[in-house]
Amino acid sequence: MSRLRANVSSKELGRTPVSQRVGELSMASELFLSHFEHRVHLAVPDQWLPPDRPDLGGMLPWQAGVLPESKYHHFRLDSMVGSFHPGHRAAWTTHELCHRLVGFAFRPGSSPLYHALAARVAEVLPTATWYFFDEAHLRRCVAHAGRGPTFSVHCQACEEVALAGPWLEDPTAQRRLVEGRAFVARELEAITRSRTLGRCLPHAYATLDLASDGLAYAAAQRVRLESPEFRGFIERFFEGTSGTGRVESLDDLCQRVLDVQAALLDEAPLAPWLTRQEDYVAQDLAWRLCSVASESDEEANEGLRAIVDDLAEGGLPAAAFEAYQALHRDFILPSAEDVFAVGYAIPGVAGRSVRQILEGLESVLPSTLSLIADEAAETVEAFLEVDPTLRRPLARRFATYLTETRPGPVADLARYEAALAHPPPPDPESDTLGIRHALGGHRRRSTAFEVLHFTCDVVALASALDDAGELGGEAAEAALSTPSHLLIGRPAHGELVISDVTALTAHALLAMGDASVDPSTMGLSRGEIAALEAIGVLVPSAWRCE
Ligand SMILES: [Zn+2]
Ligand SMILES: [Zn+2]
Ligand SMILES: [Zn+2]
Repeated sequence: MSRLRANVSSKELGRTPVSQRVGELSMASELFLSHFEHRVHLAVPDQWLPPDRPDLGGMLPWQAGVLPESKYHHFRLDSMVGSFHPGHRAAWTTHELCHRLVGFAFRPGSSPLYHALAARVAEVLPTATWYFFDEAHLRRCVAHAGRGPTFSVHCQACEEVALAGPWLEDPTAQRRLVEGRAFVARELEAITRSRTLGRCLPHAYATLDLASDGLAYAAAQRVRLESPEFRGFIERFFEGTSGTGRVESLDDLCQRVLDVQAALLDEAPLAPWLTRQEDYVAQDLAWRLCSVASESDEEANEGLRAIVDDLAEGGLPAAAFEAYQALHRDFILPSAEDVFAVGYAIPGVAGRSVRQILEGLESVLPSTLSLIADEAAETVEAFLEVDPTLRRPLARRFATYLTETRPGPVADLARYEAALAHPPPPDPESDTLGIRHALGGHRRRSTAFEVLHFTCDVVALASALDDAGELGGEAAEAALSTPSHLLIGRPAHGELVISDVTALTAHALLAMGDASVDPSTMGLSRGEIAALEAIGVLVPSAWRCE
């Protein structure tokens, strides 16, 4: 089992020297991630929620192919399995794994200030990595190169170029490492002073303040951390040994932060956790069962505790699954499929939720799903086996899968619906500066548009399906045999544009790539070029400033 690192992308870890080092250390400790969309997120039991925060408990449903994450519902410092969310940035892989290298502090009977500061210490290094260390030698797009973190601005171009590997010549790298170390030192100092004064002292960097993050974590998690179920969980999985990710004292956690920092930046050795991959799986499953137990009656509880004990003693997940199914027959409990859908493969158990992925696809590819209705579940099951660790929307990944495994109208429809649901981000620069004030006659393809080729007339097919609810009749027949080309994109202000073009136009645009060209050399008529400019597909390469 040790070769498998579920949901960890080696490309994402290859982005910078620090992310590479996080990758090496995580590999040694057999850490891995859970796929956010493949995992069923069990509702937080009511009694663990702070009285005034029912909003933290529930799970938001899919919204047009996106499964939303709530910071304090889904994130647990005491989970040694981090999360991979396809809608987030690549830097999260480093951040999530860095958390598990640092571990967490917990002592039974602690005060709220301890919980707040424990959460704060645990966040110091992952945060310094995000804003400083993982920025050193990070390859960014032309607009952002050498500028440091983009904070709340998401730049797709940065995401893509970073995967090509470190920017070794980065002149700002040394400065970022020095600033990161200073951030860690100041933060640890603020934590020490907080402990001495018995307060939670702030230390702000840009819009970030780990003091308030620590308080928010304590507010959301305190009841859970003080519950008998949590105590039992810690006793079974984290007691007695120091090499499992958990420490008792805040001093020990602060020292761990410095040890991991030295391992990341100075090549200092770091002993791997004693926990093995199968133990993390057992912990993950056990905590889910503990949380189910907290809402069950005493008899079901006994059965659940027995399964947790068995897992703690090295029992196999498949045996736990069977035992849970047996309990499920006698008591009202969440389904075994949901409880065991942890978001990664487990031997002998379906660790990834077919139900949840089907719901996600229904929310974004309704026509495609209606076409494959009878075989939808099997198709999704097969897709989950190979769903790549990519930061792309579910609909896009599924459409690619269909294109590779069964090219034709179904795959076309999926690509079409995915393009409508997740168009590329608009290009406000070109929209605002316009065509009239172009500098020179060269044009490039707007990044806000996609050029798509289909084996059928996909628009007619979608509308025939809409009208009839199934494929049949002359309209559908004709649609199936006519190839089509579409331009799909979204202006900065306004509705999505879907433009039907000839094969010649589409291929001319595809041939342009990212280059800036003289449009008269594209083999298109003046009228066609003017039409493409009018809808914003061809845009100037630069503008006059006069
Ligand atoms: Zn974090
Ligand atoms: Zn950028
Ligand atoms: Zn074509």
